[in-house]
Amino acid sequence: MIFVTGGAGFIGSNFVLQWCSNTDETVLNLDALTYAGNLANLQSLEQSPQHRFVQGDIRDTELLKQLFAEHKPRAVLHFAAESHVDRSIIGPEAFVETNVVGTFRLLEATRAYWNGLEAADKAAFRFLHVSTDEVYGTLGPNDPAFSETTPYAPNSPYSASKAGSDHMVRAYHHTYGLPVLTTNCSNNYGPYHFPEKLIPLMIVNALAGKPLPVYGDGQQIRDWLYVEDHCAAIRRVLDAGTPGETYNVGGWNEKANIDIVQTVCALLDELAPAGKRGVRHAKTGESLTHYAELIAFVTDRPGHDRRYAIDARKLERELGWKPAETFETGIRKTVQWYLANQDWVTGVLDGSYRDWVQTQYGAK
Ligand code: NAD
Repeated sequence: MIFVTGGAGFIGSNFVLQWCSNTDETVLNLDALTYAGNLANLQSLEQSPQHRFVQGDIRDTELLKQLFAEHKPRAVLHFAAESHVDRSIIGPEAFVETNVVGTFRLLEATRAYWNGLEAADKAAFRFLHVSTDEVYGTLGPNDPAFSETTPYAPNSPYSASKAGSDHMVRAYHHTYGLPVLTTNCSNNYGPYHFPEKLIPLMIVNALAGKPLPVYGDGQQIRDWLYVEDHCAAIRRVLDAGTPGETYNVGGWNEKANIDIVQTVCALLDELAPAGKRGVRHAKTGESLTHYAELIAFVTDRPGHDRRYAIDARKLERELGWKPAETFETGIRKTVQWYLANQDWVTGVLDGSYRDWVQTQYGAK
């Protein structure tokens, strides 16, 4: 059995789904179901004995102890986090609590469990920490992409809290010998992405005829990776990564935010039913020819990093991982998924997935 934290979130739920369709091994999924956790993502596993869900907090030491004792996992895959930069600017404390304190408590509980394992199980055990490229700070236009040896220079409360957790994970390897692996990945996109993040926000707003807010001049550059490629990379690192090592994960897809938004709009023009007959502006009632006419530049985020780029050559060279999707194929799949899953979007926007959780699991 593997023990996943945050498996009801965007990447975690994609990982659990991919895991269950590629292996027979059971997943224990611990998630606090914050606003970002959504069990509707895992509806297809509702009857599956392969997926065991527990609602709970990674800071709850007693619960962690109990789960380790009961389920005896061979690995921990740690996705749970507060993950939205804008929210970290408004309220950084939750980020320190979950990302720093939570990761520390999880490491402590893991260490206690791992210490009690037989020698062979102890050697085979892995703690895989899922992290971000944002810990490296920002790049100038001509700087080389982030590699595993780039010094940490986090700029937002989110990235600082993730950097703190990365350092703690590293320390548990160097101090206690815990077999840890860390992945630092670029921006993900794909199915089940909460519509507060750029790509799903643009799709959801555009379909509703609402303005598409783009920060500053829209020239901030990010590297984009289709979420299923990230999940495949995590599985590969779990299987073949060297304990104590970190692996950068990225898609070699550097794109300016404004180009991402233009691409999404062009795909909606082509694929959305309303795209063919013209878009109506929700506020003004004005008829528009293209979704891109909804783009509205807004005041930039404070301290907004200008450019991230990931050098993923170590993972490609040492572990043979490569992304299956190009940006063009991945973004098309993503837009198609949102168009085909409007019920999921509606459920997220009106909070009805919480009622679904109540009926399915008696938890809220
Ligand atoms: P998300 O916000 O969609 O999901 C986070 C999940 O963690 C949610 O299900 C939430 O309920 C759960 N959670 C939050 N606090 C918890 C707590 N105290 N105890 C238990 N569960 C808790 O995030 P995501 O985008 O899926 O990101 C997953 C991980 O990947 C994070 O660690 C993030 O830093 C990292 N990451 C994300 C991206 C990206 O582009 N989204 C890129 C690189 C790395």
